[in-house]
Amino acid sequence: MTAIRTTCAYCGVGCGIRATVTGERTAQIAGDPDHPANRGRLCSKGTHLGETVGLEGRLLHPMIGAKRASWDKALDLVAKRFRETIARHGPNSVAFYVSGQLLTEDYYVANKLMKGFIGSANIDTNSRLCMSSAVAGHIRGFGEDVVPATYDDLDVADLFVLVGSNTAWCHPIVYQRIRARCEAGAKLVVIDPRRTETAEEADLHLAIRPGSDVALMNGLLQHCRDADALDDAWLAAHVAVPADFWDQLGEGSDLWSVAKTCDVDAADLRRFYELFAATPRTVTLFSQGINQSTSGTDQVNAILNLHLATGRIGKPGAVPFSITGQPNAMGGREVGGLASTLAAHMDFGPEARARVQRFWAAPAIAEKPGLKAVDLFRAVGEGRIKALWVMATNPAVSMPDANRVREALAACPFVVVSDVIEKTDTGAFAHVRLPAAAWGEKDGTVTNSDRTISRQRALFPLPGEAMPDWWIVKEVARRMGWKNAFAYDRAADIWREHCRLSTYDNDGARLFALPGAAQGGNAAYDDMQPFRWGGDAMFADGRFPTDDGRARLVPVAQKPLPAPLEKWPLTLNSGRYRDQWHTMTRTGLAPKLARHRAEPLVEVHPRDGEQWDLADGGLARVATPQGESLYRVAFAEGQRRGELFVPIHWTDRTASGGRTGLLPRPLVDPHSGQPGFKRTPARIEAV
Ligand code: SF4
Repeated sequence: MTAIRTTCAYCGVGCGIRATVTGERTAQIAGDPDHPANRGRLCSKGTHLGETVGLEGRLLHPMIGAKRASWDKALDLVAKRFRETIARHGPNSVAFYVSGQLLTEDYYVANKLMKGFIGSANIDTNSRLCMSSAVAGHIRGFGEDVVPATYDDLDVADLFVLVGSNTAWCHPIVYQRIRARCEAGAKLVVIDPRRTETAEEADLHLAIRPGSDVALMNGLLQHCRDADALDDAWLAAHVAVPADFWDQLGEGSDLWSVAKTCDVDAADLRRFYELFAATPRTVTLFSQGINQSTSGTDQVNAILNLHLATGRIGKPGAVPFSITGQPNAMGGREVGGLASTLAAHMDFGPEARARVQRFWAAPAIAEKPGLKAVDLFRAVGEGRIKALWVMATNPAVSMPDANRVREALAACPFVVVSDVIEKTDTGAFAHVRLPAAAWGEKDGTVTNSDRTISRQRALFPLPGEAMPDWWIVKEVARRMGWKNAFAYDRAADIWREHCRLSTYDNDGARLFALPGAAQGGNAAYDDMQPFRWGGDAMFADGRFPTDDGRARLVPVAQKPLPAPLEKWPLTLNSGRYRDQWHTMTRTGLAPKLARHRAEPLVEVHPRDGEQWDLADGGLARVATPQGESLYRVAFAEGQRRGELFVPIHWTDRTASGGRTGLLPRPLVDPHSGQPGFKRTPARIEAV
C-alpha cells in the first residue's frame, strides 16, 4: 500500500505525515522523513491520529433544527436568511466566525464572500484568541504581518529564550529541535510564571510575575545598550527610532527596578541579561503567554524591539519567532481571513480596496475593519448581528465569558454551524447544521509557524453527505446570486486564485515567485511539495515593507500590575495539556491520549493549598467574576504563590467540571482585540 503524504491535524508546528490506509476507516500514521518541519518525527498527538479517523460522533447529514434535510434545502435556507437579513438590516448585520482548523482554500472563499460580495468585514476567526497580538506587533514593528523566522534557525542558534511558551508540551517537535541544539551546547532560558516541563529543563528559568514581560524586555534592551551590545550600524541603516525612544525606555529599566516589578531574583536576572547581550545568535520564541494578554501587542513589540536594536533579525539563528497554536492560523493570516485585514496581508486603504474589488470583480468591498471575536459575539448578544455562521470552531466553550456567548447564540435569530462533529456546545444553538469534511477526507493546503505550506490530502472518501468547507461556502454564495465568482470545481482552483492575488502588486508586478510545483495545473497542485511562503531569508537585506523600507522601534511601557483584590485574591492562568487538543473532539477518540491527564486539574502551590484548606487530590471550585467550575486539586511546587493553572479542554459534553471558558474576563488587548486569558482574578474553595 502506498503511503499518502499529508500534514498533521493539530498544532502550528505543521508536521508532515505519511498515512497508509489499512481499511475502510483505518490508517497507519508515520512521520514524513522528507518534511522540513519534523523530518520524520511525530509527537504523541500526531502518532495517535490513526485512532481518531472513525465516524463515531460525526455529523453526516445537513440538519434544519432536529430534522435531517437535503443539501439543497439547507443551503437554500442559509442563502435566503442571509440575503433577507442583509436586505433589511445591511451587510454589517451578518457575520462569520471561522477557524484556524480550516484549510487555506476554505478560508479564502469565506473571506471573499464576506468582504467582497456581502460587503462587510465581519469575518473573524478563533485565531483571534491565539496569535492576533503577534499579527498586530509584526505590523507595528515590520510594517506587515511577517514571521521572520524558520525552523532552520533553531538548528544554528546559540541561545533560546522561550517566553510564555510550554514548548515541550504545546509544540513538541519544535522543542525536540531545540533540545538537540542544546545538547550541542546552546543555552535555554525559559520565562514563564509556572515551572513547566519546559522550564524544568532550562539552564535558567525566570518565574516572572504574570504580565511583567514588558518590564523584563525593556530592562534587557537597556542592559544591551549599556553593555554596548546594540548593532548601531544596522539600526542606523534599517530601523526608524522615535526621538524620545531611549529616554522613555530608561525609566524603571534598571536591573533592581525590573527585578522588583517582575518579582525575580536580581542575580538570575543579571545572568539572563548578560547571556543575551553576549550571544548574537539568539532565537526568542513566544507563544500564548505573550499573546493572550491585555498588553499582548506591547509585549510582542518589546521582543521585536530587542531583536531590531541588536540586529538579530534576518540572520541565521538570530530571530524573534512567534509560534502559532493552530494548524492553519498562518494560512488564515495569508488570505486575510481576520476582521482586521482585507485580503492577502492588505489593509482597508483605498488602493488595496480598489485592487481587491477589481481582482474579485466584486459588487461591493468592505470599507473598514469588521468586528473582532469578542466584539462580534457582544454584537450578537446586543442584537446587532442577526445572522451568524460558525465554521469549524466551538465558541460556546472557547470564548472568554462563555456563558454570555451562549446567551448571545441563544438569542440570535439565525445561527448556522458547519462542523464535523454532530453534538457540540455551539451546535446546540444552531438553526442549521452543515456536515463538513474532516481531516483525512479533505484536500487543500495549510501553513505552519515558519511559513511552510504543505498539502493536506484525503485518505478516505467523503462519508455520508459531508462536504469540504469551501464547497459549502461557495454553494451558499452561488445561491445568494454570485455564480460566476464562485465557480470553483476543486480546491486547486481556489489555490491558484489565492496565489494570483497574493503574489502580484497593484501594478501587476511580481512580488515573489512560487516554486514550480506550487503553480500550474491540477497535477502540480496534487504533487505540491512543502515550500516556504515568501522565501527563506526574510529581511536578510534589511528592507522592511514600510513606506521608507525601515522597521520601527515601538515605544512600549510596562502597565501597572494591580494588587490582588480582597474578594478575588488569586490569579487564574490557563493552557493546554500535552496530549489533548482544543475541546477534545478528536483527541478524545484516542484512549491512549487520555492516560496522560484523565481529568481537569487545578494546579495550586502547596502552601496556597494549605491556606485555602484544600486537599491534594480533592475537589475544588474555582470562581471568577464571570463564573465558576469544578476541578480536581493538584498541589504543584512549580506554581507561583497566589496563582492557579487550569486546562482549556473540557466542555459540558466531556465532564461536569473543568469548564475553563466560563472563567476569563472578556477584556482584550486594545491593538489586537486578543482576549487576556492568562490573568483573571479568582478564588478557590474546597467542595
Ligand atoms: Fe502534530 Fe504538532 Fe505533534 Fe507535530 S508537534 S505531530 S504538528 S501535534
